[in-house]
Amino acid sequence: MASSLSGYDLHTHSIHSDGTTTPGEIVREAASLGLEGIALTDHDTVTGWPEARAAAADAGIEFLPGVEITTRFGHRSTHLLAYGVDVSRGGLAEELLAVRDARHSRAQEMVARLAADYDIAWETVLAEGDDRTVGRPHIADALVTAGYYPDRSTVFAEILHPRSPYYVPTYATDTAEAIELVREAGGIAVLAHPAASRQRGPVADAALEELADAGLWGVELEHPENREDWLTGLREVALRRGLAATGASDFHGAGKPNRLGDRTTDGETFTQIRSLVAVPR
Ligand code: AMP
Ligand code: ZN
Ligand code: FE
Ligand code: FE
Repeated sequence: MASSLSGYDLHTHSIHSDGTTTPGEIVREAASLGLEGIALTDHDTVTGWPEARAAAADAGIEFLPGVEITTRFGHRSTHLLAYGVDVSRGGLAEELLAVRDARHSRAQEMVARLAADYDIAWETVLAEGDDRTVGRPHIADALVTAGYYPDRSTVFAEILHPRSPYYVPTYATDTAEAIELVREAGGIAVLAHPAASRQRGPVADAALEELADAGLWGVELEHPENREDWLTGLREVALRRGLAATGASDFHGAGKPNRLGDRTTDGETFTQIRSLVAVPR
């Protein structure tokens, strides 16, 4: 198979959260593209790890266990990537459960609001016993399936954005507290997509300094949604504070245009992460 890519894609989502493909499918696609390894970073859950780990062993590429934690820094919704955490250590597992429970109630509330204007039922968003981490993408998918909109991105743009009357906020862990929980669990914390164009502006330089003080290890400077013109100050802070720079695609299968391996992390950084964490593979 033609393989033009190299490096490590350290931010991907599977059907354990809001991706559309299985952990095994992500790993096999990564291998066929020529990537040397991937991290699975489903939102607030680690249930996809065993399948990804087994698939990586079969495919002969590296697997790094990860999770993308829903946090907030002040008023800003802030995603924190955690790598190599041992969830049996400290309070991380309990906190992830609290975040997931809140997401469940919040999604149900959003569906209740939408049901006033759309023919949508909770059962079409999340089947009973389905323990994937639920989010707005699943609500979007239900509306696409029902024929109201052509794809997820259109639903977000029209009715799922934070200014929509159907929008309900959800509980998120304080970012500095989340960094502490990740460190207690023997992992490292990387700030995800700090200059994503869908937010009003980049993470402030002073905020990155504060997170560095709180024990942040790295920052995802390479991400398809980062705005290059918003990154200048963040690059400077990262360099000065010795924060590692990572790159990743934030692949969501068919749920987003992001292509697997579109951005990657180099081997030296990957090896360093491996050497630092409690659960390196
Ligand atoms: P939630 O977790 O409910 O806050 O929803 C946020 C998730 O929706 C993130 O994983 C984003 O990647 C995804 N998302 C945000 N905007 C869009 C969009 N325009 N199209 C598809 N997915 C999106
Ligand atoms: Zn997502
Ligand atoms: Fe994110
Ligand atoms: Fe993500």
